[in-house]
Amino acid sequence: MALSGKGKLIILDRDGVLNAMRPQPITDPDQWLPLPGSMDAVAFLTQSGYTVVVAENMSGIGRDQVSMQQLNEVHGKMHTHIQKAGGRLSGVWFCPHTSNAKCNCRKPQPGLLLDILDRLHMKAKDTWLVGDGIRDMQAIAAIGGHPVLVLTGKGKETLKMETLPDDTQVYDDLLDFARFCRIQAEKAAEE
Ligand SMILES: [Mg+2]
Ligand SMILES: [Zn+2]
Repeated sequence: MALSGKGKLIILDRDGVLNAMRPQPITDPDQWLPLPGSMDAVAFLTQSGYTVVVAENMSGIGRDQVSMQQLNEVHGKMHTHIQKAGGRLSGVWFCPHTSNAKCNCRKPQPGLLLDILDRLHMKAKDTWLVGDGIRDMQAIAAIGGHPVLVLTGKGKETLKMETLPDDTQVYDDLLDFARFCRIQAEKAAEE
């Protein structure tokens, strides 16, 4: 059955959404540990026709805590695990800058997200960003997309402490959100 996630984009924050957070930036694939259900979630989304990408703040690069080679190796593990589960990432975008750099791509700035939409020819109204931090929600709200907060990573703290954009949806975890998307896609396919 052709599902109608087609033409819709799901942007995922990485740490706290796909994999467990760590106190220090992840420098080694062994430190990258998928959260329960998150790999299946990407598979659900991919198989429902959604385009799925990652957008992350990676200031560890700008601070020389993480090298490009280390980041590539960590992303290699992420791609492998997602593929094994039956999913696919259409790209990984990251901001390498520290907050001092005043760049336009570090979330909550929207530059990274605008670049993704531009390259993939997607529209903000057809885009959801799933994250665990307030900056994720602010970045997607700033361009007119749909903020989705998950309660993994620092999500519970974000829900309690921050003022979320008005239309923020909240889910327990990425799998919970992916199930919702799959039902939407199935409904749309039946119409
Ligand atoms: Mg995060
Ligand atoms: Zn940047």
